Amino acid sequence: MKLSRLPPLSLYVHLPWCIRKCPYCDFNSHEQRGEIPEGEYVDALVADLEASLPDVWGRRLHTMFLGGGTPSLFAPESIERLVTAVRTRMSVDPGTEITMEANPGTFEMERFRGFRAAGVNRLSIGVQSFDDAKLAALGRVHGAGEARRALEAALAIFPRVNADLMYALPGQRLEEAVADVREAVAHGVTHVSAYHLALEPDTHFARFPPQLPSDDESADMQEAIEEELAGAGFEHYETSAFARPGERALHNVNYWTFGDYVGLGAGAHGKISFRDRITRTERARKPVTYMREALAGEAHRAVRVVSEGELPFEFMLNALRLVGGFPAALFEERTGLSIQALSRELGEAESAGLIERDATHIRPTRRGERFLNDLTALFLPGERAARRTIPISTSPPGTARHS
Ligand code: SF4
Repeated sequence: MKLSRLPPLSLYVHLPWCIRKCPYCDFNSHEQRGEIPEGEYVDALVADLEASLPDVWGRRLHTMFLGGGTPSLFAPESIERLVTAVRTRMSVDPGTEITMEANPGTFEMERFRGFRAAGVNRLSIGVQSFDDAKLAALGRVHGAGEARRALEAALAIFPRVNADLMYALPGQRLEEAVADVREAVAHGVTHVSAYHLALEPDTHFARFPPQLPSDDESADMQEAIEEELAGAGFEHYETSAFARPGERALHNVNYWTFGDYVGLGAGAHGKISFRDRITRTERARKPVTYMREALAGEAHRAVRVVSEGELPFEFMLNALRLVGGFPAALFEERTGLSIQALSRELGEAESAGLIERDATHIRPTRRGERFLNDLTALFLPGERAARRTIPISTSPPGTARHS
């Protein structure tokens, strides 16, 4: 393979601790027991960054994302040390998007100001719902009042604020799902991420499933949420993402357009392109193991070259999440492969009414959006395509689904 040019480069940093594990969460998050070893963890991240730099020499940083876990459990001083370490070691423009996830449960006005002073310019708040009963059913540590106060505080301090919401919650009615969205919009957020609650394997909810709305009810909720946000001037640009004009999450758009990202922190994944290959990296999931390895200069242990056979599926898994689709030329630019090699799969998808395309552009239809798993499965390499379904939850790390 040969890439004509390298894609934009982002940085994802995983801060893996939470106050309590939510029963639906399949992220690499760990309940905080005692003090978080913030100083040592930031030292490990910096060592990991330095060991990663030779792979990305000379490349400008497009975006940075501090995800978790609950990054807002870290003190502003630790976040500042981390952001400064990145700025002094990489090429970063002053206005570069730096997003941080925060939970209303750890809300402190002082901290938000400190995070802003540290250089964070976009805050993503895990609201989930403004209904106390629904938050309790989700096992969240915060209530609706804290969610409201956190949004108000964030909007007074940060120029860009995302609210993470979830719908199809236990016992939820359509009007309640829409009311949550309406309230987030009324606060003045610039971006909304609305995630369908899914029962992920190996979670408490998978073992003890709550009573959830049916598929049809969930689909109706999704449609009503989309209408509500469209009416409020939000553009629906990705499966779960809605933005006011000019407010798309550039970091996540880089994932969805198959861009590159260095992934630092426990369990973080990365994707780095070179002219002749694309690699995937992975860090140890357990924080203590990660810290030990990173401080010894060995965090980089799992590096895999993505085979040509896997590239079409990996690209489509991301790009077909974009409501507007993608230019056909982007496939070639990002994978080094010709789109012609996919003519059979694209033809099948078109016949099934899952995509529409012209000579230069490919986009999912409404049906394709609804059956995204089936659509992306068409691009699995070889015979696996016939028998495997890929859950939407295989979205890249940092695509904050529900922190
Ligand atoms: S959903 Fe978010 S807050 Fe809850 S355990 Fe997972 S990462 Fe932590």
